[in-house]
Amino acid sequence: MSKNEEVTPLDFIRQTIANDVAAGKNQGRVVTRFPPEPNGFLHIGHAKSICLNFGVAGEYPGGQCNLRFDDTNPLKEEDQYIQSIRTDVKWLGFDWQEHLYYASGYFEQLYQFAERLIQDGHAFICELNVEQMREYRGTLTEAGRASPWRDRPMAESLELFRRMRAGAFPEGRYTLRAKIDMASPNINMRDPVIYRILHAHHHQTDDQWCIYPTYDYAHCISDALEEITHSLCTLEFEDHRPLYDWILDRLEGVVSCHPQQIEFSRLVLEYTVVSKRKLNALVRSGVVDGWDDPRMPTISGLRRRGYTPAAIREFCRRIGISKTPNNVELSLLESCIRDDLEQHAPRAMAVLDPLKVVITTIAPDHCEELSASNHPQNPELGSRTLYWTQEIIIERDDFAENPPKQFKRLVPGGEVRLRHAYVIRCDEIIKDPNSGAIIELRCSHDPSTLHANPADRKVKGVIHWLPLHRSQPAEIRCYETLFNTANPDEAWQGDDFTRLINPNSLQILSHCRIEEGLQNLPAGTIYQFERQGYFCVDSRYSRTDHPVFNRTVGLRDTWGKQQNKSS
Ligand code: ATP
Ligand code: MG
Repeated sequence: MSKNEEVTPLDFIRQTIANDVAAGKNQGRVVTRFPPEPNGFLHIGHAKSICLNFGVAGEYPGGQCNLRFDDTNPLKEEDQYIQSIRTDVKWLGFDWQEHLYYASGYFEQLYQFAERLIQDGHAFICELNVEQMREYRGTLTEAGRASPWRDRPMAESLELFRRMRAGAFPEGRYTLRAKIDMASPNINMRDPVIYRILHAHHHQTDDQWCIYPTYDYAHCISDALEEITHSLCTLEFEDHRPLYDWILDRLEGVVSCHPQQIEFSRLVLEYTVVSKRKLNALVRSGVVDGWDDPRMPTISGLRRRGYTPAAIREFCRRIGISKTPNNVELSLLESCIRDDLEQHAPRAMAVLDPLKVVITTIAPDHCEELSASNHPQNPELGSRTLYWTQEIIIERDDFAENPPKQFKRLVPGGEVRLRHAYVIRCDEIIKDPNSGAIIELRCSHDPSTLHANPADRKVKGVIHWLPLHRSQPAEIRCYETLFNTANPDEAWQGDDFTRLINPNSLQILSHCRIEEGLQNLPAGTIYQFERQGYFCVDSRYSRTDHPVFNRTVGLRDTWGKQQNKSS
C-alpha cells in the first residue's frame, strides 16, 4: 500500500476489536474472513467488505483474513466466479496466504454436526412442503405453528436424515429443521430449515452430495471451524445473529470456538446497483458486454475502466464503517480515482473530433521537434517529442466562427496558444462549398512564442492539438452512468429494468487521433489526455492497429471546465 493512503480511523468495529485484543480475548488473536458466494463477480460493495476484513487483520501482528467461498448453493454457483473473485481480491492488493477455504470443504463435518443436533433433540426431519412451511411460519405479528413432524422420535429423524444423504428421496420430500421456537418474534428462529435435498452437481464436490446445508447453518460453523474471532457482515444479517449463536451454543464442546458476529451497513452507490442478482440480469440481457463492462460497478468493470486498486481502497477508507445507511454519491468514487491519477498518470494529447488547421507561416516539409513534459509536477515521468508541422489538427469545438461572449479559444482573427508549442492566429476559414461546413482553418504562427507568451499582447486561451501526419487514429469510448436514475435499486421491479437504462451510457468516438508515441500500449495503461480526462487502454477491443481507450473519468479541471462553461 502506498504511503499516500492515510491511516484508517477507528470505526466502531475497529474499536471493538481493539478492546478485545487489549482484554486478551481470543488470546489476543484477530482472525477475520471474507466469505463471498461464488454466484457472480465482485462489486464495489464487496470491496468495502474486503477492505474492512483484510484491512483490520493487517492492522494486527499475526492477524489473518481467510478467503472463504460460501458455496452451499450449487444451483447458482460457477467456477468462473471463483476464479474472478480470486483475481479481484489479489488485484485489490490483499493476500489470504494459505487461508483459502470452501464451505463445501466442511460438508462432511456439517453433516456430522447435524446428526449430533438430531441426537440431542435440536433438529428434526420435516415433511411440510415449501408452501405449507410458509403457511405454518406465521407472520411478523402472528406466531407460527409447530410442524406436525416436530416431535418425531429422534431415531426416526436420524434414520431419515441418513437416507436423505444416501439419495433415497426426491427433492422437496424432506427437510432437516432446527427445533427452536415457533413463537419467536424473530422469524429466523421459527424452526429454520438447515438441510434440503438437491440432486445437483457441485463445482467442488461433484456428485458426492444430494443434500446441502443452508447458508445460516453452514456459515456460523465454517466461521467456528476456521477459528474466526470476528465475523463481520452486513446489517441484513443482524436478525440472523440469534440463529448464528443458537447453532454454535448447541455445538459447544463439538466446535471449539464461538466467533462474534458484528454487522455494519452495506454500501449503496448512486446511479448503480450492487446486487449480484441484478448485475447478472444486466449481463444476461446484453445491456452490457459482460461482467467487466466498464459501466459496471464490478471490480473487473472498474479495472477495465481504469480505476486503480489504490483509488478503490481510498474510496473504502473515505466512506468508512458504521451502522447508518451508507448511500454514497458517485462523485466521491470519481474524486478518489482523479486524486490518484492526477499524481501518477502521464499526460498526452488526443483530439476527439479533429478539425484540420494549416499553418501558412511554415513550409510544407517543416518538421520541428518540440519537447513536452509528461507531467507538470513530476519531472521523473520525463518528456516526449511533438512534431510541429504545417498540417495540424485541433478539437472542432475549440474554434467558434460566431463565438459567444467569454469564449477564450480560437475565433476568426483571434489568437490562441497551442499547448507545448506556439501562439497561432486564425486568418481564414475554409468551408465545404456544398454543405457550408467548416473543413479547414488557415492560421499563421508567431515564431517568438514557443513556450512563452508574447510581451505586447494578451493571449488567453490554451488548446491542445496534434500534428496531422505524426499522430495516429484511435477509438475513444466515453461513458455516462448506466442508469438514468440515482436510485435504480429502489426503482427496479421484477426484472424489468430496461426503462431505467440510460440510452447514452456509451458513446463511441471512432475518428479520434492520439500522439504517435502511444503505440502498442498494454491494456490497462492510463493517460491523462490534456483537457479531456483520464483514459485507459481497453483490454478487450484494443488492437495494435486499432487502439481503444476507455474514458475513466473527466477532469475536475479548472481551466478546461471554465472554458467549456463559457462556450
Ligand atoms: P449480493 O446481493 O451482491 O449477492 P451478497 O451479500 O449476497 O451480495 P456475498 O457474496 O454473500 O454477496 O457477500 C460476501 C460478503 O460481502 C458478505 O460478507 C457481504 O456482507 C459483503 N457485501 C456484499 N455486498 C456488500 C455491500 N454492498 N456493502 C458491503 N458489504 C457487502
Ligand atoms: Mg449472498
